[in-house]
Amino acid sequence: MNYQNHYLNEEGIHPGALKLISEAHEDVKHLFYEIEERAQYHQSRILNIFAKHRVSQRHFTGTTGYGYGDDGRDTLDLVFKDLFECEDALVRPQWVSGTHVISDGLFALLRPGDTILSITGEPYDTLHDVIGIKKCVSGSLKEWKVNYRQIELTSQGSINHKEIEKELKDSSVKIILIQRSKGYSTRRSLTTKEIGESIDFIKQLRTDVFVLVDNCYGEFTEDREPSSTKADLVVGSLIKNPGGGLAPTGAYAAGTREAIRLLSYRLTSPGIGREVGSNPAGYQYYYQGLFMAPHIVAEALKGAILSAGVFDRLKYGTFPHWSERRSDIIQSIEFNSSEELIAYCRAIQSASPVEGYVVPFPWEMPGYDHQVIMAAGTFVQGSSIELSADAPIKKPYIAYMQGGLTYAHVKIALMRVLTAMQKEGYIQF
Ligand SMILES: *Cc1c(COP(=O)(O)O)cnc(C)c1O
Repeated sequence: MNYQNHYLNEEGIHPGALKLISEAHEDVKHLFYEIEERAQYHQSRILNIFAKHRVSQRHFTGTTGYGYGDDGRDTLDLVFKDLFECEDALVRPQWVSGTHVISDGLFALLRPGDTILSITGEPYDTLHDVIGIKKCVSGSLKEWKVNYRQIELTSQGSINHKEIEKELKDSSVKIILIQRSKGYSTRRSLTTKEIGESIDFIKQLRTDVFVLVDNCYGEFTEDREPSSTKADLVVGSLIKNPGGGLAPTGAYAAGTREAIRLLSYRLTSPGIGREVGSNPAGYQYYYQGLFMAPHIVAEALKGAILSAGVFDRLKYGTFPHWSERRSDIIQSIEFNSSEELIAYCRAIQSASPVEGYVVPFPWEMPGYDHQVIMAAGTFVQGSSIELSADAPIKKPYIAYMQGGLTYAHVKIALMRVLTAMQKEGYIQF
């Protein structure tokens, strides 16, 4: 069968789009080998860990009420602990998002008078109100008399050890906050290796500070996670990488026995901690999603690299460049105007399996400073391991695309994006 004719004749894809995608694929495909090998390595580790903990059907069943002795829950904690190479872990559907688990992590480890020191510049947007960075929101850490300071990354995008050394002389510093992924900023994402080196540096100076790593979007993009370093608490969302597109909600935390104990007291209540928490819907999709996660992350990475390759050929700014090493799944593409940015997000939405008929508009999203447009036609609402694109409507006009449960889906979305952008006069082939 001539598959090209299907796209050209039945889907109305522009022949220039097909040619461009095929050329970009040729540029980037040599990078896919390592990505697939790494996915296979993580897959093998997961199989061993499931076997060690004798994962079986009974772990998938739901529980009710207090959930005492919920074996599905407790075994999933052990699986994450081993996979993330640390002393202990908590995996819970009761955490509603990544922001929720980061917020709980901060509240669990901080007391009035303590200081948070972010060493990767400004944290993710939704944490501003949690900390009380710009305004003192009711219930924020600021209202609980917790101070906040940040150190910018160096001009090379590295963690600034000299500044850390100065700041750590202040004995009120209790938590060091590290964000692995660039999130919605234009800095470089950090690797597990450099995060580990900085934590070694910090722990040589002070043994009485906790290091909390926001690991969102980073899981399985490298051989090891920041939880394998001396980090105290490493947290992330289950509707991103480690949920494999199947986990319907929730978040995880991996770290030291002490940090996880304190977090468990914040999660439920002091004294009760991790002993309670039922899940009537059961745990099958958490185990199955984790099993799928390395493969799904590999598909998303290949999709991000192809997208970078395509827009690089069109002379748009892409970050990271397709050839760069990655430690998260986010791809930034810089457009020339807000109209073009909106057109891109709308084309991504129209190529979605769910609500593909919806036309997204920019809106005032809670927790964000600017209007944001979001394309997320996903099975799990707002899941960004599924193909999605978000963009704050501000200069420079950058769309952050991420996810894609299959490489084929990202490729088809690119065909439609390019065809739409050509039709609207933004690009020429
Ligand atoms: C997604 C994300 C978060 C948390 O966001 P939620 O939407 O609350 O899950 C935090 N930090 C980074 C870097 C993220 O990418």
